[in-house]
Amino acid sequence: MAKKDIDWGNIGFEYRVTDKRYVCNYKDGKWEEGGLTTDPMVVMSECAGVLQYSQSCFEGLKAYTTKNGDIVCFRPDLNAERMYDTAKRLEMPPFPKDKFIEAVHEVVKANADFVPPYGSGATLYIRPYMFASSPVIGVKPADEYQFRIIVMPVGPYYKGGLKPNVVKISDFDRAAPHGTGHIKAGLNYAMSLYAGVKAHEEGFAENFYLDPATRTKIEEAGGANIIFVTKDNKLVVPKSPSILPSITRRSIVYVAEHYLNMQVEEREVFLKEVPDFVECGMCGTAAVISPVGKINDHGKEICFASGMETAGPVITKLYETLTGIQMGSVEAPEGWIHKID
Ligand SMILES: *Cc1c(COP(=O)(O)O)cnc(C)c1O
Repeated sequence: MAKKDIDWGNIGFEYRVTDKRYVCNYKDGKWEEGGLTTDPMVVMSECAGVLQYSQSCFEGLKAYTTKNGDIVCFRPDLNAERMYDTAKRLEMPPFPKDKFIEAVHEVVKANADFVPPYGSGATLYIRPYMFASSPVIGVKPADEYQFRIIVMPVGPYYKGGLKPNVVKISDFDRAAPHGTGHIKAGLNYAMSLYAGVKAHEEGFAENFYLDPATRTKIEEAGGANIIFVTKDNKLVVPKSPSILPSITRRSIVYVAEHYLNMQVEEREVFLKEVPDFVECGMCGTAAVISPVGKINDHGKEICFASGMETAGPVITKLYETLTGIQMGSVEAPEGWIHKID
């Protein structure tokens, strides 16, 4: 085994075909054995449920090489659990959680040569997903499904340190009350692309979505949860039933409480109180934390004290501690790091 000849420091966040993927089919009311394959193509009916009524969901997590050379992944049990909940809400057969974790281990191990070396800033992105594969034309859940995990090395999100972003308050809604905002369904992304493209055209990195019922409360960004820091050093995290339960955000809350001795408030956050905060960030697996320097609310700018040059001190500390836990330089809480062997 030898590492692939890849310029680890200069790869982007892009699909790349690796050696092996994990595939498991659901048929006749049960999940088959499942296993690794080299075939990167999916062949299915032209009338597959996923193609007609978008019955699909996904997860995202990463594997890293630690300082002492181990390959590890971060809290895959929480991805297994979240995908289980997502599948139930979409009338898909939930994939067994133990089997999910085993499959992650198996596919990462089989692609060990693609796991970027320690210190390169790059990581192995792991994408488990599931879709309806059998024909459906009258609206109903499909009878057959495929669960698949692909992996690919992805580059460092930040080449020049933690650079603050400018975001906008969106006029579009991401998730309806009592809808599917809390699950990781492909459909949530399909309908947010329009708002995302518009925001990018206007020069913003991301959209901040408000609660659709009252449009007075901050919910989350298109693919990341939001955190704030108060003047007196508290972490404030928006809470709503339509926010996707980010594993990064839940880990940050734990790190703030147990490593940085901060107080954490998980509560509704009103747009009108946002100017009182001193730091803001977006969190998710891809970037861990992206600092926000400025929010544009219909032409009115909310500028955080941390400014546009670097991330504020609290977000920097949270970022360093959490990435330290992931990369093995800071001691991890029990059960967070799964060694691949
Ligand atoms: C995946 C996702 C996140 C981030 O979740 P992580 O588990 O931290 O990667 C946040 N918001 C939405 C809408 C998501 O789909």
